[in-house]
Amino acid sequence: MELGNFTILQCSGIREEETRAGWSTKKWPHANSNSMKAMLLSQYRHLEIADLPTPTPGPGELLVNVAACGICGSDVHGYDGSSGRRIPPIVMGHEAAGRVAAVGPQVHGWSEGDRVTFDSTIFCGTCTHCCRGETNLCDRRQVLGVSCADYRCAGAFAEYVTVPQRIVHRLPDSIPFAEAAMLEAVAVAVHAVSLCRVSPGDQVLVLGAGMIGLLCLQAVRALGCTSVYIADVDASRLKLAKEVGARETLHATGDELISEILGRTNGAGVDLAIEAVGIEATVRSAVHSVRKGGTVTLVGNITPEVTLPLQRTVTRQIRLQGSCASAGEYPQAISLLTGGAIKVKPLITAIVPLEDGPRWFERLYSREPNLMKVVLTPGTVS
Ligand SMILES: [Zn+2]
Ligand SMILES: [Zn+2]
Repeated sequence: MELGNFTILQCSGIREEETRAGWSTKKWPHANSNSMKAMLLSQYRHLEIADLPTPTPGPGELLVNVAACGICGSDVHGYDGSSGRRIPPIVMGHEAAGRVAAVGPQVHGWSEGDRVTFDSTIFCGTCTHCCRGETNLCDRRQVLGVSCADYRCAGAFAEYVTVPQRIVHRLPDSIPFAEAAMLEAVAVAVHAVSLCRVSPGDQVLVLGAGMIGLLCLQAVRALGCTSVYIADVDASRLKLAKEVGARETLHATGDELISEILGRTNGAGVDLAIEAVGIEATVRSAVHSVRKGGTVTLVGNITPEVTLPLQRTVTRQIRLQGSCASAGEYPQAISLLTGGAIKVKPLITAIVPLEDGPRWFERLYSREPNLMKVVLTPGTVS
């Protein structure tokens, strides 16, 4: 490709007093021995395999050779510009695992060769929210592989990526890299469920058998809930739900789903509904499916606004709980995966080389049926 004097911003560690000041601007050089292969969104709906400079880890940062990086739904939504969160040029990718290839200055406890995964959220560690442990709500939050009006942060659809050590987690040998790339999504589900105040005897409805829905289903079962229903309009996804342990799947939506749930709960409704779609129909079904005093946890957000059944929510004292990303749930996610309480292998549709990434993006973008997680393998480690 013609590189010219195009510039790209490389994400570097965020320090207390700086946000965008912590970024260095690099000239885009011609391919050389310090270059790496990366999948670049050079314009909307156009991905190419490009030679980019291999990043150098700054203070407190690790250089990771990316063994696996999953394609997230948010990458697919960002691909055509509709979300405004992947402004080209950008290397996307935030669900990754690999091995430490180099450590920057002031890095402690990590060495070359360590197997790692990392949070998709780069939090500052010092703002009010970070101090409260709400790292997902960090005032200086940046997400790997995202470029928006406020920042641009190179992601992991590349042989190498640099990440601050504070977001890195050690991986046990028993978790293969491709499965470890799913830990970001597992942590999102574990976080959502941790906000639900759920008890083992509770009856739960998960709306949406996509990636997050299927992981929420497993996370809630891991807490001891045995009455967990999962609903979707896609029969193939419900089949997958069975594979990961769903006892009862509901191939229904809208009023039909509501009456199915009320019929199974003596007309009372479930204790908890986890909404993992983010459209009006499913939010409405969730509110109508919970009991008085029950909780609706909102994780899906494909549409920015929906109409809320207000009177039903107020008069039945229903608690609405939003959930965003994760905040410290990685260790728990790792142990749930290691212990087998959460299974991600059935959710991986394909593990393919970086070079095949553009083609798989198009397949995901065109909503080809029966695709769940596609994992790319950009790096050279195993
Ligand atoms: Zn994601
Ligand atoms: Zn912060």
